Amino acid sequence: MNAPVTVVGAGLSGLTLARVLHLNGIPATVYEAEASPSARAQGGMLDIHDYNGQLALEAADLTDEFRGLILEGRQQIRVLAPDGTVLFDRADDGTGGRPEVQRAELRQILLDSLPAGTVHWGHKVGSARTLGDGRHEVAFANGVTLVTSLLVGADGTWSRVRPLLTAAIPEYDGTSFVETYLYEADTRHPATAKAVGGGSAGAHGPDRGIAAHRERGDTLHAYVTLTESLEWFAAIDFTDPAAATARIAREFDGWAPELTAFITDADTPPVLRPHYALPIGHRWERVPGVTLLGDAAHVAAPNGEGANLAMLDGAELGTAIAAHPDDLETALAEYEEAMFARSTKVALETAEFTESLSGDDPAPRLIAALGGQTP
Ligand SMILES: Cc1cc2nc3c(=O)[nH]c(=O)nc-3n(C[C@H](O)[C@H](O)[C@H](O)COP(=O)(O)OP(=O)(O)OC[C@H]3O[C@@H](n4cnc5c(N)ncnc54)[C@H](O)[C@@H]3O)c2cc1C
Repeated sequence: MNAPVTVVGAGLSGLTLARVLHLNGIPATVYEAEASPSARAQGGMLDIHDYNGQLALEAADLTDEFRGLILEGRQQIRVLAPDGTVLFDRADDGTGGRPEVQRAELRQILLDSLPAGTVHWGHKVGSARTLGDGRHEVAFANGVTLVTSLLVGADGTWSRVRPLLTAAIPEYDGTSFVETYLYEADTRHPATAKAVGGGSAGAHGPDRGIAAHRERGDTLHAYVTLTESLEWFAAIDFTDPAAATARIAREFDGWAPELTAFITDADTPPVLRPHYALPIGHRWERVPGVTLLGDAAHVAAPNGEGANLAMLDGAELGTAIAAHPDDLETALAEYEEAMFARSTKVALETAEFTESLSGDDPAPRLIAALGGQTP
């Protein structure tokens, strides 16, 4: 195949695809809405699993670069009670299969592995339409249009490519994160740093939770979790950080101060991150010349698998195209069948796990799932 593959979105899925295609001598062009690689903070840490994300990095021939990014000790995991009692604590002995890296650094090794000019920044897709013969026309918000014989939507939850394949739209799943950071935590927030320990820690009550990670250095990153409707959140003015902080803190009355410090002492304004998901088992009939990767195909509530699945999608599609360069429909069909099965399995397991944690005291079930026993 000689015409470049057109990839929309320079997230982990699109970049992994471009990298695997490049390794196989197949040109790809990635169109990204953001103006530059640093236009937006890339979020916190990702644990990259030996059964999916790491396989993708192997296919991308970036295992050594990935190993260089691993933050030692971050696989330590703690479950805390809302009063701060440590209920479960598993050390990072270096044998876990889920090492943690910073998302921005992972994205950067993918960017650095591509030929210069592969990513066209500042190209936001406005719409895409079929030309009826396996080709598609893509129109960008900056006025540019192009026609391609292979279009890949790697453009995340609100994909502009998805409507070519399916009418499904992600829906709010009933839970949101409020994201905060504590900087220089060991010195400025020592009680909270001690509670979190060297890796991640979570405390959970009914419909409320606080989960935190120790990022590079002594930055702590928290997801304060609330199961509430969008209307409930709409009544909170997140443009007024002090008011929003006070309102969210009220929901954690009685929790240990070293945990509520993630809300009350945060070094960043609280950022609301509602969870949207496509229906479990979402799939589509094959449409010639177009497919989707990652969140565009199967966004699910955060479950620690999304970035891993996204990279594996990119790697597998790249490998399938390289195996069938003259028969793209076979490549896309093979990729999609495996991707549908994989993402459905993960979404079902997540739903089952989430359901098992509902109720007044989720901690014992969480600890059991981690292989421990409640003290
Ligand atoms: C708060 C939070 C925490 C998470 N934590 C984890 C975790 O710990 N582990 C894990 O595995 N997963 C996690 N996930 C899920 C993970 O972030 C996603 O599943 C993953 O990023 C999906 O990758 P992607 O490449 O499909 O999409 P994205 O990472 O969303 O990338 C899409 C890219 O497309 C670009 N784009 C969007 N629209 C357009 C357009 N119209 N035109 C051009 N470009 C466009 C975007 O700017 C972006 O660069 C988390 C998600 C959230 C929200």
